[in-house]
Amino acid sequence: TISEAWQEFDRSRIYMADLESSVSYALRVEVGTHRVLTRKQLSALKSYVSVLVKYFPGRPIMMNFLQVLNSWLKSYTESELPYSTLEKEMENGFNVPNLALPPTIKWVACQGSRTHFRGYPCSVWTLFHLLTVQALQNEKASSRDADPQEVLKAMLGYIKNFFGCRECASHFESMATESMSSVRSLEQSVLWLWQRHNHVNSRLAGAPSEDPKFPKIQFPPPDVCLACHSELNGEHTWKTDKVLQFLKERFSADRILNDYLE
Ligand code: FAD
Repeated sequence: TISEAWQEFDRSRIYMADLESSVSYALRVEVGTHRVLTRKQLSALKSYVSVLVKYFPGRPIMMNFLQVLNSWLKSYTESELPYSTLEKEMENGFNVPNLALPPTIKWVACQGSRTHFRGYPCSVWTLFHLLTVQALQNEKASSRDADPQEVLKAMLGYIKNFFGCRECASHFESMATESMSSVRSLEQSVLWLWQRHNHVNSRLAGAPSEDPKFPKIQFPPPDVCLACHSELNGEHTWKTDKVLQFLKERFSADRILNDYLE
């Protein structure tokens, strides 16, 4: 169910309701538009679920579900997966007592001033910014063997194979082809996604898809992080060390708000 009533929220915070709704919408709606998942789609789904299990600081109800889903997907060795098979397993909670994907689809910081604005795409950005930051703050991933592009590759795979907006997917894929391979550390992975998101914002500023109550701006604006901005020879520049610090704080697990969850 999509809630229509406007919910007050704090623009400086992120909300678990948006994050859980993103996962729920992905698994129930977006993945479900494919009758049979091909080998590539199945592999993309496995990576998406696997990074969620590793880095999503979700509530136990969501994490238990994702862990069981992850194990089920890992043990599924056929090359293709009919969605009806996955759907049946998810509906039955993989035969584990009390296991279920939280049903909510409720947008809080991702609400639009009209129902056709924002919502799911906003939650996808929010979720993946969070995951890049969580990977950085996760000790195991910060060890030398970890792939600094792990989360970005999972995001790209998801977007390429499932994101409903196909034009968005091809834009994102070309940005990734252009520069994702230059990401050599988890810090760079956080900053790469931030920078690409700002590119998308500047391309979309003023477009009909822009919610007038949430204009597409270069983020974070000076009133949100003054220290992030600087000037060189009269030209605006970003202080990337300050941006990184800002993003680490904004997307830290203990700053996520649980308001409006059932
Ligand atoms: P969003 O851009 O969705 O951002 C959500 C929130 O993230 C913002 O409200 C803000 O709080 C924060 N934020 C903003 N910028 C940054 C940043 N740089 N770093 C960290 N946080 C930030 N739409 C199209 O019309 N054409 C496209 O080609 C297109 N490509 C897309 C590609 C991807 C991968 C995704 C996920 C979405 C794409 N979209 C595209 C949708 C579009 O980017 C927006 O998600 C949508 O218009 C909703 O906008 P929004 O106002 O909720 O802000």
